Amino acid sequence: MSPTPDSAVRQYVQQHRDAFLGDLADWLRIPSVSAQPEHAADVRRSADWLAEKLKETGFPIVEVWTPDGSGAAAPAVFASWPSDDPDAPTVLVYGHHDVQPAARADGWHTDPFEPRIDGGRMYGRGAADDKGQVFFHTLGLRAHLAATGRTAPAVNLKLLIEGEEESGSPNFRALVEANAARLTADAVIVSDTGMWSETTPTVCTGMRGVADCEITLYGPDQDIHSGSFGGAVPNPAAVAARLVAALHDADERVAIPGFYDGVTPLTDAERELFAELPFDEASWLRTAKSHGTLGEAGYSTLERVWARPTAEVNGIGGGYQGPGGKTIVPASARVKLSFRLVAGQDPEKIELAVRDWAAAQLPRGIRHEIEFGAPTRPCLTPLDHPALQSVARSMSRAFDGQKIRFTREGGSGPAADLQDVLGAPVLFLGVSVPSDGWHAPNEKAELDLLLKGAESAAHLWADLPNALR
Ligand SMILES: [Zn+2]
Repeated sequence: MSPTPDSAVRQYVQQHRDAFLGDLADWLRIPSVSAQPEHAADVRRSADWLAEKLKETGFPIVEVWTPDGSGAAAPAVFASWPSDDPDAPTVLVYGHHDVQPAARADGWHTDPFEPRIDGGRMYGRGAADDKGQVFFHTLGLRAHLAATGRTAPAVNLKLLIEGEEESGSPNFRALVEANAARLTADAVIVSDTGMWSETTPTVCTGMRGVADCEITLYGPDQDIHSGSFGGAVPNPAAVAARLVAALHDADERVAIPGFYDGVTPLTDAERELFAELPFDEASWLRTAKSHGTLGEAGYSTLERVWARPTAEVNGIGGGYQGPGGKTIVPASARVKLSFRLVAGQDPEKIELAVRDWAAAQLPRGIRHEIEFGAPTRPCLTPLDHPALQSVARSMSRAFDGQKIRFTREGGSGPAADLQDVLGAPVLFLGVSVPSDGWHAPNEKAELDLLLKGAESAAHLWADLPNALR
């Protein structure tokens, strides 16, 4: 009896496990820390290393792109392998090859750039975020070809592996816009997220966006005597406090007019699926290092962090902060706010709403300035999208038929730019787990899960053409 496609994929992955892990360890030895200028050459070396491996894997087109064209920004790797099927859909895989800074002194038990395998795990900076999850695609693609007997993938496969993600992707949107014609895809697969846990495999369906601003409030031209003038002039620190207090209503809903306009509501089906997840609020609070929950009335904790927009006070200050007292009306105060945004919200409209709201709160005699940073858009793929169903089906095959559940990501990332610029749905295929320690000392990846990631990808390339037809 010939092996089933599933067992052929698994057999290939198992047979090539050691070579895969050896190569991954080599890549992890390159300290591609994009935030530290002294590692600029290492980030380049990391891009070149990956480009070489992608050529070895069989990609006929492999290029190293410098995002801003000046040579200063960290390079991204682009690769493309057209299918031999003229009707094949096109898929773009996104990940990143740069890593967070890491040093022994931060609490690593061993050199963060000398990976070691211990107890079925690989320890090293980038093992999970994101080199391990980028690299499983090379094994997955090889397994797809071997299991199907194809000489080219069943999808037109493109890869874009960024080199500046850990530095906030400053040039990513421009890079995507400049190369949009070459990056067009019917679906984007992001492999830079994780699952609920080792025993509860999940697919993330979207990320929140974010907008942030700093509001500076100016009162008198200098700090003035509170005895001579206090009580008869507006105090910018008191106005800052009132502004912050006006952000939410009694139900913890954001009180900025128009803030919820367009918000894509949670469906009953998604709420039910979230509620099925084995969520333990006490342990969640321990992870949060918080001593209580508080949020928008009518929503669960998971719904609040995944699917509802927020306004957060990140900082507030002004006036005298030194020891003892100082009886003044301060000259100025500042408030830093950020807003997590969900699908249906437009960062530009939110900015206008916040500006109007702030201006309307201020008494005469207080001048203000608002400065917004560059926003990140939200993204969301509906549960019934055929490509999302294909990802879940493919993961289920890799996870021995287990039910794949759905999550969202409360954080924000450049994936949304891909959805925005390319107009393609973004799907998340990640197998990392919370204990992997992203950005933390002793980051690791579970070897079994990396291999299941490879298997999932192998199944996905075979499944997607039917799903999208
Ligand atoms: Zn990452």
